[in-house]
Amino acid sequence: MIVDLNEGLYSYEKYLDDVKKMEKKYEDLIKCVTIGQSHDNRDIILLKLGYGRRYFTISSGVHGRETINPIVILALIEYYADIYANYKEQKAILSSKLKDFNVHVGPEYDEMILGVCIYELLQTFTILFVPLLNPDGYMISLKGFDQIRDEKLREKCLSKNIPHREWKYNGRGVDINRNFPSRLWRPKNSEDYVASENETIALISVFHDYKSKGFIDFHSRGKSIYYYRKEMSNQYNERQLIIGEKLKEITGYELVQPQEEIEEGDTGGNTVHYFSEHFFRPALTIETVDDEATFPLEQGYRQITYDEIKLVFLQFGGLII
Ligand SMILES: [Zn+2]
Repeated sequence: MIVDLNEGLYSYEKYLDDVKKMEKKYEDLIKCVTIGQSHDNRDIILLKLGYGRRYFTISSGVHGRETINPIVILALIEYYADIYANYKEQKAILSSKLKDFNVHVGPEYDEMILGVCIYELLQTFTILFVPLLNPDGYMISLKGFDQIRDEKLREKCLSKNIPHREWKYNGRGVDINRNFPSRLWRPKNSEDYVASENETIALISVFHDYKSKGFIDFHSRGKSIYYYRKEMSNQYNERQLIIGEKLKEITGYELVQPQEEIEEGDTGGNTVHYFSEHFFRPALTIETVDDEATFPLEQGYRQITYDEIKLVFLQFGGLII
């Protein structure tokens, strides 16, 4: 496999390198598009997986310090692509084995069922992945503020006096997940305005360029699922609950109670607020990794998270079709 979950520090450069290798290996099945540049000039990449005429969108790496999800999501794209690419060959091998009644094919049969499901998913949908929306924040959190090459931006970040490992923001010190136009959004200071950040604009452009049937934004910590949207109708939330329950079942994560959707005094402007309020379609936030985990997040969470969320895309596609 191209993406190695045991790799040491997973830099933005390594991420780009893996993305390019995957695009080459799975030509047509995976297509990459640059959807914008961060403020410190790093490309923001969209990976399109599948051949379907319908779309849904998955993002992660909105907050810099949440460093587990980007590599896990990329590894899962490869997992789905690999199953799709080998499906027909595997099916032929299994079919010939099934003709021989003396051969027991238990686990192989289960694998083939999964293969059929993923094959059909990627025939129906093209999944739009933005695994690393905030590459500047990601690199700050992994390696420190000298990763910001623009001196003015670096000074601005340093002036916030936050340890680099705890860094949630982008390369201009803005929390992208409070920057999306939405009903609850309020300015946090006199210079604050909605969609001021390149990363925000990049994701909004994906939402508008493809008519996504649903959206999931992966964050960390808490092993929980935010499904409830206070600003949306009961009917909308009933559907969200059905989806949330299913995703809870396959991940083992908890559903967050409606009253806990937004903390008292929070200014709103999350990715999921924008998507739900503009398109009225399902939008959920999934928090990976234990609630008690500290930053920097341990690399051991990569494999655990991979196993927990592996089937989320498959399940989500089935639920929103
Ligand atoms: Zn987050």
